[in-house]
Amino acid sequence: MKITNVNISRHIGPFGWCLVQIDTDDGVSGIGEAPLRTTVQPEELGRVRAALAGQSPLNVEPLLLSLQRQANPAIINGIEMALLDLSGKQMNAPLWAILGGKYRNRIRMYSDSHAGIDWDPIGFANRVREVQETGQFLEVYRPEAFARHAREVIQHGFTAIKFDIDFPTPTRYDMVDRSLSPAELRGIVDAVAAVREAIGPDVDLAIDCHARYNVADALRIAYEVEPFKLMWLEDPVPPRNVETMAKVTSKARVPICTGESLQGRHGFQELVTKQAADIIQPDTPRSGSIREIKRIAELAEMYHISIAPHNMTSPVATLAAVHLCAAVPNFLALEFHCGGMPWWNDLAIRPKPILDRGYILVPDAPGLGLELDFDAVREHVNGPLWLE
Ligand code: MG
Repeated sequence: MKITNVNISRHIGPFGWCLVQIDTDDGVSGIGEAPLRTTVQPEELGRVRAALAGQSPLNVEPLLLSLQRQANPAIINGIEMALLDLSGKQMNAPLWAILGGKYRNRIRMYSDSHAGIDWDPIGFANRVREVQETGQFLEVYRPEAFARHAREVIQHGFTAIKFDIDFPTPTRYDMVDRSLSPAELRGIVDAVAAVREAIGPDVDLAIDCHARYNVADALRIAYEVEPFKLMWLEDPVPPRNVETMAKVTSKARVPICTGESLQGRHGFQELVTKQAADIIQPDTPRSGSIREIKRIAELAEMYHISIAPHNMTSPVATLAAVHLCAAVPNFLALEFHCGGMPWWNDLAIRPKPILDRGYILVPDAPGLGLELDFDAVREHVNGPLWLE
């Protein structure tokens, strides 16, 4: 089996998914996904095609090394996924077997549910503007709306759910500074309390701060939400200063989770070795290739830290993450961020449905075990799917 062509897609859907397809002379293709909104220059795509043409897709690591000076790391992560899919198809083995075996047969997904409404980039930007212009508290950010949405989400079978508390609010005194106003803190606590009451004691609840707060106020949040028994408090402070994250983690009595914007094993090294977080959430595939994220998970396992990968992707990278999460012992939950896209499951012919009652079965079919419905995918692209 030799590589004959590489294709990279236009941005798909509201999050800007970017697919990679690698074709071979056997007529078999591998599919991968680069991080959201990855862009590729025509010359870059030409260099990638030239570097991979005629090569065996089984030689994954040396092929990726040969691309390091030819393409940006985001594209290389998508190519790695497509090469692994092809390798599995050639060896007639699922990706989890290539990664060393599976610890579990199904992957527990958690629903990132935002607030009283699911998050989408345009709707969110409009709401931010509306709050700034009107000075009004929006209905979708009231505790009752959080609770209503939480009840809707768990009806779909999720046993874990995440909400944002850094929502646009007129109660802030300053839009730039990281301090909380008393009313803002009260609004946060009321929202978290309403969700916990709505979902009951046994559904796991995570809360995302999006790196919005200073150390002192992040700790105020951590202490105030302690009664609601969180699965984690996410990005309470900006993630790149490991010392401040370590201070919050050591003083908070709720688990602290971070890492969605960090990259590569060196991006996680200090965070993990200084135990500056209780849970890490490498993003598939923004934090690295599938094998790189497995290395990050192995580093975390040495420090008895679980991973809960961040994930906003199409079914392609989501299924790659499913194989990865099956293949590491220290897995907590995998994100599902597409609750607002009822067509997400329709993008696959097989498996069908992909996500069912809060879980994704780990495929046993070769490679990713995914057959995309390209007609369905094309409905969410402006122009032809593949770049010239
Ligand atoms: Mg986050």
